[in-house]
Amino acid sequence: MEMDFENRILSPSEIPIDALGDDNPLRPKRLEDYIGQDKVKENLSVFIQAAVQRGEALDHVLLYGPPGLGKTTLAGIIANELGTNLRITSGPAIEKPGDLAAMLTSLNEGDVLFIDEIHRLSRAVEEILYPSMEDFAIDIVTGKGQMAASYHLPLQKFTLVGATTRAGQLTAPLRDRFGVILRLELYSPAELAQIVKRSAGILDMPIDDEGALEIASRSRGTPRIANRLLKRVRDFAQVISNGVINAESAKTALDKLEIDELGLDANDRRLLDALVRFYKGGPVGIETLAAAIGEEAVTIEDVYEPYLMQIGFLSRTPRGRCITAAGCKHMGYDFEGVTVASQPTLFDENI
Ligand code: ADP
Repeated sequence: MEMDFENRILSPSEIPIDALGDDNPLRPKRLEDYIGQDKVKENLSVFIQAAVQRGEALDHVLLYGPPGLGKTTLAGIIANELGTNLRITSGPAIEKPGDLAAMLTSLNEGDVLFIDEIHRLSRAVEEILYPSMEDFAIDIVTGKGQMAASYHLPLQKFTLVGATTRAGQLTAPLRDRFGVILRLELYSPAELAQIVKRSAGILDMPIDDEGALEIASRSRGTPRIANRLLKRVRDFAQVISNGVINAESAKTALDKLEIDELGLDANDRRLLDALVRFYKGGPVGIETLAAAIGEEAVTIEDVYEPYLMQIGFLSRTPRGRCITAAGCKHMGYDFEGVTVASQPTLFDENI
């Protein structure tokens, strides 16, 4: 089932094809090229300007929100706008405190250290991170017993940009050390259409407004998925519409990929279907639902649910997950016998 998720065209996690790092030409480099997330951009631009004017490092920034919304991109933009270097790592990649210490001591003044999936840092590593964020110094103990020696290493003032899909899982002391906490939201179809057109321009693919909107509305509010679908649609456009991506070629391609007009794929439909057929529409606990469709609970929470809740098909209630009347209708079930939540409740487990 892991595999199933990995192969999922709508998967918002990075796959080798788009994990191009700095070479990814689709990643905006400046704040003005970053589409949508207006509130986040407005705030960041003030903080960045203030830091630059004072000649100080920017306060530590925590970015949170579902995968593929532009957290890594934003970290790169922050470094570019500050005119400093960006170092990228992730929670699971930092195994030992020494790994983090080596990274921290190699930073220059004002550099940005990006830690993706920061909620997955080990306790021991977090212990080193606290003083380095607060006092810009680390204390390292080497040896044991009588041979033990402790070193106090001062660090250059740097900016930590942490990213997480689940701010609720961050330990309180770590969360408290971020001066700026920003939440990224799913994008509207209009914003995604702008992203699709920008990407098509960079990749030299002719596209019209309707084609861009068609792709945008099936991308689950996620730029990474929009860019990925754009590349898949190109092949169909080449064969059926002289290479131009228009409503017709986009529709044909996306239907062939089994992505429906709202962006739901076979896995989303399987989840909604299981809710109705096995649990009368819910409420059902997340673990039970995960077992029923052979998927990890965290994948359901991070990847499937944000979008299903945003379009009002699913609600999280204290007693479990419920399908909504709109979700039922979309799946072709009538509501008789199905307990549906009348109002989608979007309760926020984050911060
Ligand atoms: P995350 O780190 O949140 O998983 P990324 O920063 O890797 O997401 O973004 C995924 C892709 O989506 C990037 O390659 C980038 O091209 C595109 N992207 C994300 N946000 C935007 C945006 N606001 N404007 C344009 N493109 C974006």
